[in-house]
Amino acid sequence: MTYYENLKKLKKINDQLKYYKTIEALMDLDQWSSLPKQGSAYRQQVAAFVAGQKSDLMATDEVKSLVDYFSAYDLEKINDYVEKGLIRNFLFRYNGTSRVPKEKLQKVSALKAVTTGKWIEAKEKSDYSIFKPYLEEVFILKKEIAGYIDSSKNPFEVLVNITDEGICYDEVVREFDKLKTGIKELLNKINNSDVIIDDNFLMLEQSPQLMEDFARELIFELGYNIEKGAFAKVPHAFTSFMGPKDARISTYSKGLVGLLFTYIHESGHAMYAYGGNDKVNEMNMFGGNEGGFHEAQSRFYENIIGRSYEYWKHTYPKLQQKFECFKGISLDDFYKAINKVQPNVKRTISDEVTYSLHPIIRFELEKELFEGSLNFDDLPKAWNDKYEEYLGIRPNSDAEGVLQDMHWAGDYIAYFQSYALGNIYDGQIRNSVLKDIPDFYSKIEKGDFKSISSWFEKNIYCYSNCLTSGELMKNLTGETLNADHFLKYLNDKYNDIYKFS
Ligand SMILES: [Zn+2]
Repeated sequence: MTYYENLKKLKKINDQLKYYKTIEALMDLDQWSSLPKQGSAYRQQVAAFVAGQKSDLMATDEVKSLVDYFSAYDLEKINDYVEKGLIRNFLFRYNGTSRVPKEKLQKVSALKAVTTGKWIEAKEKSDYSIFKPYLEEVFILKKEIAGYIDSSKNPFEVLVNITDEGICYDEVVREFDKLKTGIKELLNKINNSDVIIDDNFLMLEQSPQLMEDFARELIFELGYNIEKGAFAKVPHAFTSFMGPKDARISTYSKGLVGLLFTYIHESGHAMYAYGGNDKVNEMNMFGGNEGGFHEAQSRFYENIIGRSYEYWKHTYPKLQQKFECFKGISLDDFYKAINKVQPNVKRTISDEVTYSLHPIIRFELEKELFEGSLNFDDLPKAWNDKYEEYLGIRPNSDAEGVLQDMHWAGDYIAYFQSYALGNIYDGQIRNSVLKDIPDFYSKIEKGDFKSISSWFEKNIYCYSNCLTSGELMKNLTGETLNADHFLKYLNDKYNDIYKFS
């Protein structure tokens, strides 16, 4: 059979996998936004059925022969990046979870329902001992799964590579060390600064409807296309990638500034997810690279653009007009308040400087748990010790510490690194943007966001997940992972705010 005959077959399999993914995304959104309590048992049956269909599809003889054919094929011979991306993605998926026996995957999904319940109970009672045996079981199972995928490698590294494809684990460890040290030094300078920032006015109550309308107005201006999107209310924010021209934003109600930045963050995910070109869409390769690279897109809009002085120079008059209480507060004071650095035990409400330390702490703990140098009894203490060492604060309870995030209960193990990787990528992406658009910040100040979103479409979005993050970074910046650029960006920005040199 020829290359094109095989490619056609592969496209058909990929289409089917994408349809299953869309069904799962629809069910996921529905589960968080409107599924009635008593509807959940039947929904679990439907979800298990879809998961089974997916796994059966990957186990067919046709898939096996396609894997044999394309594994032996020299991918470097292929000039079309979308075709090459389709094949690479397929082989990556097959060589990943498809190597794991079906019953192991079913065990993970069954265990997930139990661990989530135990985590909720443990968090409510702030008692880690309720969650501990289940957490330990999840880690043992995950280690086994990593062994099926690649027994020659360290299991944690295998799992990190499933979340962030093509990333070099040793590079991640090296750059995290650099980032950690750099942030600790910067934090020291900020702590010793005489600048006092008042941010109390950010907590003032606002009309929920006004906040919602204003947040949506901002993301439409940034480029979020409502003809390819929709909104929903859920307990935690996320974006659902439903199709090549359908990426929906779900948010939850919280204070004004928190809500604005949540919307901006999610719009960064959404614009990337639906930003593929016609060829990408035709091949059903929409969605973008998962993990750290997706976070880089959302955090670029949230932080690099959204927390810049120029953005608020453009946006603040509109905010003052909508929300009377800001009329007596200057732009400078507002800008400083939204960028105030204050170590917090909670990851989700952390500032731009200290944020990366939170995922790095979790990454280091996961690494030690997989290596066996840390045991599950000592985990809460190790967590708190790291907070004290890196951030100078100590969580007061298990709920504030080790039980803070749902990730470990919800099967997101070896996932946290993505959040810090997103920041590192952003430092590098920002350099490329500035090289191509030297007046980037004055464009923001004028509200000219079109040329910025066009840059992203042309340089990043159009590739969707056809290139790995490493390949994309190499094309954009000529280097792989390098935390220096993000650290320099932070130092320059916060020196301006805290005047420490
Ligand atoms: Zn995100």
